[in-house]
Amino acid sequence: MSETTANRPDDRVDILVAGAGYVGLTTAVAIKQAAPHLTVSIVDAAPDEVWKKDGRASAVAAAAVKMLDQLQIWPSIVGEAQPITEMIVTDSKAADAVRPVFLTFGGEAQPGEPFAHMTPNVALNGALRDRAGELGISIRQGLAVSGITEAVGHVDVRLSDGSTLAARLLVACDGVKSAIRDMAGIRTLYWDYGQSGIVATVGHERPHEGRAEEHFLPSGPFAILPLKGNRSSLVWTEPTREAERLVNADDMVFELELEQRFGHRLGALTVEGPRRAFPLGLTLARDFVKPRVALAGDAAHGIHPIAGQGLNLGFKDAAALAETVVDAERRGLDIGAIDVLEGYQRWRRFDTVQMGVTTDVLNRLFSNDNTVLRMARSFGLSLVDRAPSLKDFFIGQAAGLTKGPSPRLLRGEAI
Ligand SMILES: Cc1cc2nc3c(=O)[nH]c(=O)nc-3n(C[C@H](O)[C@H](O)[C@H](O)COP(=O)(O)OP(=O)(O)OC[C@H]3O[C@@H](n4cnc5c(N)ncnc54)[C@H](O)[C@@H]3O)c2cc1C
Repeated sequence: MSETTANRPDDRVDILVAGAGYVGLTTAVAIKQAAPHLTVSIVDAAPDEVWKKDGRASAVAAAAVKMLDQLQIWPSIVGEAQPITEMIVTDSKAADAVRPVFLTFGGEAQPGEPFAHMTPNVALNGALRDRAGELGISIRQGLAVSGITEAVGHVDVRLSDGSTLAARLLVACDGVKSAIRDMAGIRTLYWDYGQSGIVATVGHERPHEGRAEEHFLPSGPFAILPLKGNRSSLVWTEPTREAERLVNADDMVFELELEQRFGHRLGALTVEGPRRAFPLGLTLARDFVKPRVALAGDAAHGIHPIAGQGLNLGFKDAAALAETVVDAERRGLDIGAIDVLEGYQRWRRFDTVQMGVTTDVLNRLFSNDNTVLRMARSFGLSLVDRAPSLKDFFIGQAAGLTKGPSPRLLRGEAI
């Protein structure tokens, strides 16, 4: 931990959450809803305008929907969320005239329950903030955690405005480049994929009918995810230099390249709003906890977006950490003690490493043009397509409804 010492903190809270992204907000709301007597505060390094300008959308899995419903957040977003009713997977070259469909999934985790919804990030973040406000959680924007020191019974946290705060527990949800992870002395396993994900929204002439498409192209996966109306969200993976060229290209060049990959099935395409490229890598924290500090979301793990699971892993962390903390509080235990926090780490680490490795293997297997590998994966995909139990397994994974001890919130139950 850093050398900063705060002898007399300016303020005290039970729980300080650093980072008002989805994971930080969800963790704070989940704890406060179940244990209203605990004081919970959030600080976020970015100015308030930043989250309001996020034009992206995320695939929210069925289990996360159950949790957001239990936290009284989902009803205010559902009108803006597009259910994914079908998913197809193809494996070909970008220029191939016909892309054989190797895998089709019906989009229901259970009857009447889509396995995921495409949800605008602004709607999700806004609804989480409204709920935090209702529960009396303060959110201070433009304020970063800049130093931490473990003390007896609490952690002293120094903030970027020079003030200090004592917290029984600091929850670090400060994203994939987490500074708090470094301050806590937690090392990471990291490798760079040399790829970036281009994210953009496109309008198209014909309706998508709720169909999501994943095209495995030699340069990387190209995902088309349905939004409300005749619009779709793209996550388009390319080697980083090519991705930079594409986001900086003029509109006509970008749209031509896009058309070649997207195809003509949905008619003429128009790119709406800005396009951005996000560098992709695999980041796994070696520890998720230290005394009085717990990492959650991308601060604990950053994975390839190939399976659209980054945010959903973070939601699972939020649900498991909230349950661990609230159960400990109810049993009269110290919520920041390492043996309490280790329960959370045991719960989440295996699932995280498994998902990190799976997305890594999928990306390596599909982001290339090797003939032997292409034949092997075509065979594998067609095999899965003909095996209903395997398909059910993959749908369950995508919906976040896997077997094993799932946090109560993800089953739609109160903590
Ligand atoms: C191209 C791409 C597409 C994706 N698509 C999907 C998808 O379809 N489905 C899905 O589930 N996931 C997807 N993801 C992953 C998903 O976006 C992330 O997993 C998710 O945003 C992580 O949320 P978070 O709250 O952990 O962190 P973030 O959203 O990164 O939030 C971190 C917050 O911490 C704040 N902060 C930083 N430093 C400090 C500090 N020192 N003190 C205080 N605050 C600080 C930041 O200002 C920020 O608000 C995608 C990712 C990429 C790159």
